[in-house]
Amino acid sequence: MENTVEQIRDEALAELEGVSEVAGIKDLSVKYLGRKGLVSLFLRNISSLPKEERPEAGNNANKVKNLLEKRFEETRVRLESGAADSGSGIDVSLPGRPSSSGVLHPISQINNQITDIFARLGFDIAEGPEVETDYYNFEALNFPKNHPARDMQDTFFISDDIVLRTHTSPLQIRIMEKEHPPIRVIMPGRVYRCDSDLTHTPMFHQVEGLVVDKDVSFSDLKGILTTLVHQIFDEEISLRFRPSFFPFTEPSAEVDILCVICRGKGCRVCSQTGWLEVLGSGMVHPAVFENVDYDTSRISGFAFGMGVERIAMLKYGIDDLRKFFENDFRFLGQF
Ligand SMILES: [Zn+2]
Repeated sequence: MENTVEQIRDEALAELEGVSEVAGIKDLSVKYLGRKGLVSLFLRNISSLPKEERPEAGNNANKVKNLLEKRFEETRVRLESGAADSGSGIDVSLPGRPSSSGVLHPISQINNQITDIFARLGFDIAEGPEVETDYYNFEALNFPKNHPARDMQDTFFISDDIVLRTHTSPLQIRIMEKEHPPIRVIMPGRVYRCDSDLTHTPMFHQVEGLVVDKDVSFSDLKGILTTLVHQIFDEEISLRFRPSFFPFTEPSAEVDILCVICRGKGCRVCSQTGWLEVLGSGMVHPAVFENVDYDTSRISGFAFGMGVERIAMLKYGIDDLRKFFENDFRFLGQF
């Protein structure tokens, strides 16, 4: 016998690799497995082998025959289903792997939305240092040393005189020192407070706003903030301006919106009040203008600030602030 059955098998498989049409499979079947095919001839010639070699040779030949039948059939099915085998083992008939694309973090989305709204209203955008001096974070904003209002903010101290900013308000001073009215600016950024629970994290995001010009009144403040809230929540939701206290504004107001969960009936989220606090605001305190040498007889202004996480929680119905900072894709992918 010229060829061993293993050589026949290897040749057949090598030829099969190059086949790209169903007709090619039929040709191979005839060549190797047909009545006059190479495997069939091998089987027929076994009788000419020495008696003791015959069982093993017959066994091997049958294995090769079964293997080739199986491979030919597999290739035929694949070719008939429209797949062209490139010969490199890649099955181009398999469905593609889905490619997952990322999304912006919900805090970034709300931040972008807020800056877009103010950009359309003609505001500039400013940023400033997160490590601040006591002067900018407190004193220039009318928090004198030992003033009880300082206790409202759980401050991280770097040294006696240097702090991690507890709000974005220091930027009001930095901007007014450099520029002259009219000023219309928002200041988004990170702020730090020594606090951590369901509704507080040591770092969170605020957006501060400042408008200074001739004849700026509280009704301008109301108009801007009403526009802002309606655009963020995408509906004309009711607002309530409630008297409050901040050292750097006078008069001051906290802004509530009608509870987005219970619509004013009272629920756990709004502590049965029907209202949710979303913003702090007020007319800039004359003492603050004096610290930057503005003439309070000629100009007036208002300032406001909001927590970005707070808005995101209300808008998306999230009850645990810490979820924003755990980097869980299952959570982040929903926005
Ligand atoms: Zn409610």
